[in-house]
Amino acid sequence: GTSSVGKRENQNIQVYVRVRPLVGSVPSIIETPGTREVVVRERTVANITKTFTFDRVFDLNSSQQEVYRVVVAPLLKEVLLGYNCTVFAYGQTGTGKTYTMEGELQDKKGSSSSLAGPQPPLCESAHAGILPRALSQLFDEVRKMDCEFQVRASFLELYNEELCDLLATVDPNQSKKILRIYEDSARKGSVVIQGLEEVIVQNKQEVYDVLTRGSLMRKTAATKMNHSSSRSHTVFTITVHMKESSVDGEEMVKVGKLHLVDLAGSENIGKSGAVDKRAREAGSINQSLLTLGRVISALVERTPHVPYR
Ligand code: ADP
Ligand code: MG
Repeated sequence: GTSSVGKRENQNIQVYVRVRPLVGSVPSIIETPGTREVVVRERTVANITKTFTFDRVFDLNSSQQEVYRVVVAPLLKEVLLGYNCTVFAYGQTGTGKTYTMEGELQDKKGSSSSLAGPQPPLCESAHAGILPRALSQLFDEVRKMDCEFQVRASFLELYNEELCDLLATVDPNQSKKILRIYEDSARKGSVVIQGLEEVIVQNKQEVYDVLTRGSLMRKTAATKMNHSSSRSHTVFTITVHMKESSVDGEEMVKVGKLHLVDLAGSENIGKSGAVDKRAREAGSINQSLLTLGRVISALVERTPHVPYR
């Protein structure tokens, strides 16, 4: 995640790793000694180990709540001060990006609908991910502040270089709404997505509706277009407007934003940003993921040209 203030170790970018519980056999053994290192032991090559260091490592027993508390809770405080923060989930398909960002929206054991009654608030489930938790904490904290506020949410999908509004109020069976993105010439460095639906969210319960609506739209679109959600990115943005009046009666408006990004599977993109040969032949290069990798490398290496697009 990135933060504008970066109080933690004076860094604007923090990188965390989360190890998911195992499924089946894997070619490597992953160990997590301490809270900052991951050791990968190749099973196929004797005695070869590699150690990687992060701001923090969450082992396979880590809870949704713990990940939220360490990674996102501090960012939310900055959002409430009027800053913009972003959290990206990056990794191969099946590594737990959507689980970490959204969590499980429904009870997997299939509760019988007639007896289940109204859904409990999503943010209270142990499987709730970063998204519902962030909105929940946002409402708790902004209500404590002495200000008028409004919370809005938008949810978009980027697939094949096309932006699709997951909250657009159109029949999902109709053709989806494709959005146009452009740079705002008046405000340098900011981008505008024309016609993106921003839904006003009044309370925690409404968050559930927004999320399920967006997720359903994502699935419907994927089925109709015959594309896999593993190749699309989603961006959920929470915007909070806060109006405070000072002692001398002057009004001050602060706007904070939190972007929560569930990236496409990273399987075709190598460490150096090189593209897998098979992916190139199949024409399945994810241009935006590739560019994101190059942008982050340029920022880390402090090269003079950062290839934003
Ligand atoms: P991705 O979005 O990266 O492709 P998913 O989030 O869909 O991966 O995870 C794949 C499967 O593994 C899902 O069924 C998810 O519920 C499960 N899963 C992922 N991470 C965890 C975790 N930390 N604890 C329990 N189940 C997990
Ligand atoms: Mg996913």
